[in-house]
Order: sequence, then C-alpha cells, then structure tokens
Amino acid sequence: MPGEREVVALDLGGTWIRAARFSRRGEIVKRARDRTAAHLGPAAVVAQIRSLVEAVGPAAQERRVVAIGVPGPVDPFTGVVEGAPNLPGWRAFPLKQQVEEALGSPCLVDHDATLAALGEHRQGAGRGFPNFVYVTVSTGIGAGLVLDGRLYRGGQGKAGEFGHTVVDPAGPACHCGNRGCLEALSSGTAIAALAGLGSAAAVSRAAQAGDESAARVLATAASHLGLAVGGSLINLLNPDAIAFGGGVFAAGPAFWDQMVEGVARGSFQAPREHCRLLKAELGEDQGLVGAFVLALDAGPVGTAPAGV
Ligand SMILES: [Zn+2]
Repeated sequence: MPGEREVVALDLGGTWIRAARFSRRGEIVKRARDRTAAHLGPAAVVAQIRSLVEAVGPAAQERRVVAIGVPGPVDPFTGVVEGAPNLPGWRAFPLKQQVEEALGSPCLVDHDATLAALGEHRQGAGRGFPNFVYVTVSTGIGAGLVLDGRLYRGGQGKAGEFGHTVVDPAGPACHCGNRGCLEALSSGTAIAALAGLGSAAAVSRAAQAGDESAARVLATAASHLGLAVGGSLINLLNPDAIAFGGGVFAAGPAFWDQMVEGVARGSFQAPREHCRLLKAELGEDQGLVGAFVLALDAGPVGTAPAGV
C-alpha cells in the first residue's frame, strides 16, 4: 500500500452521516454532513457516502483511505454490515466492497462503539490508560475495549455487546430476543418506555420537576447500569479507566451518582479503587477520531504522526 494517503472518516448514524478529512497529525481540516437517507436503502446511503467523501477528501482516489463507523453489528474483517436497528434494509450488506467500488479508494468499516473507544483512548478521556473501556448509553448501550494498549475485538469481531448483559431475567423483553438485558432497562429508549414518556430527556425533566415515578425510573436504570459496570467490566477486566458517553448522561448529576453507587455495590474494592470513572471528552467527534485512528493503525496512511 503506498504511503501519503489522507484519511476521510465517516460516522454513519441513523439521523446524520458526518464526514471529516484529517491531517496526518490527527486534526480535522474539513467537514461535511448530510441527513441519512436510511429509508431509501443502503445503495442510496452509499451514494451519500460518495458525495461526502468527494466533498471533503482529496480529489485523487489513490490519495484517499476511507474509514466508516456504523451503528450496528458489522464484521470488521470483511466490512459486511449484518444489520442495524436504525438502518432498515441493511441485512448482510457489503459496505466496504460497495464503497471501494463506488470510490476506488480502500475502505475500512467498524462498529461505532469500537471506534468511539479507539478515539477516546488515543485523543480523549482514555489517553495514557493501557486498559480502557468506553461505554455508550444512548438509544442503545454498547462498549468498546482497549486491553493492553490494543483494540480488543474478540475472535469474531463481536466483542463489546455490553448492553445485552442480562441483569434481570424477569425483566422487560429486549429487542435481541432475551429478557432483562441492560439495554432493556437502562438505555434511553428503555428509560422513556418504562416512564411512559417520549424520551429520556423528558423523563429527566419530569424528575427534576419533582415527578417521583420518573425519578425512580432513572434511579433504577442508573443502578442497574452501575451493577453491570461493576460486575461485568471492573471485576472481569480490572481496567485502569472507564469513560462514559451518550445522551443519557445529560439526565443530570443524579444519574451519574446513582450509577457510581451501583458500581460500588457490584465490584470488588481493589479493582474499583484502581479504576477511574470518567466522562467521554470528544463529544460528537469521537467516532470520526476513532475512524481516523483505525485507518492510521491499519497502516495505509503514510507517516505516523507525532502525538496521536
Ligand atoms: Zn438484549
């Protein structure tokens, strides 16, 4: 693979596709975004990806490498998207192959939570921690793992499905087919459903206005999350730090504090005292930064930049 390529990173979400061209030092030099035409199917989304890459990237296809984060199960080795709740019609869709054919540039594809972990580890809250977990709590719950300084994907690239840890076998049905998964109890979608309100933000506003049942739903969700973080992440992995991101943390300080109490109940003292609990730092750029790091680590980008 020739060097001197530039990375165009894309964060493919259910609502927006965001694209950014990175300098070799890891800074974003140009951005663009478009509303995801998810309802038109995967071919229309590939056309959008092509337009965005052409809008921000170097014109010459041989000077580009494209890295894409997707919001659902994907095989990072083949670049086949198995399906995503936010992207109807995506069943075993060969995204990497389709983008490479459309653009004539090499393409890497990975799960968005994995890329968020990579981005936070290299440029955000996880800097300097060899054993680092990123947990996202938004419409769903997922995790990305960096262990011994390296991205950990598991044997098939399917590691990180932390949201489908069963915390209450008699709990509500999860879309995965199981019952009482963390995602069915503590995600933004679950919080809204359990409180009978339109969104987790509405539940948070109701709780802050004195609605006791909304406050109880949030407290229970935070507690389940903390127990799972303690038992499934801290006791199992003994990480140096865990960073948390996703819209549910906007629910206010009570959610964070109740989660931390759950962590204390669910974990052993020594690994808990060792593990820093942090807030994610990169905001909505974390997936883009992670996609950049993915392309950088894969080696087709040319000179490794300093400090990234
Ligand atoms: Zn589940």
